[in-house]
Amino acid sequence: MKVYAYHSTNPSDPDVYHDHSTCVSGSQIPQRNRASGTGGYRRCEHCIRLG
Ligand SMILES: [Zn+2]
Repeated sequence: MKVYAYHSTNPSDPDVYHDHSTCVSGSQIPQRNRASGTGGYRRCEHCIRLG
């Protein structure tokens, strides 16, 4: 399902943002590392495929 943009604050994670709650990459971000917004990153490729 489509959600507001979010990204990981962990420097070791890819510099991308997500906007799908079911994204395989985005769903692995722990809550404590999850920030709202794009973070100025490009969109995650998994999320692009999800539509
Ligand atoms: Zn994603």
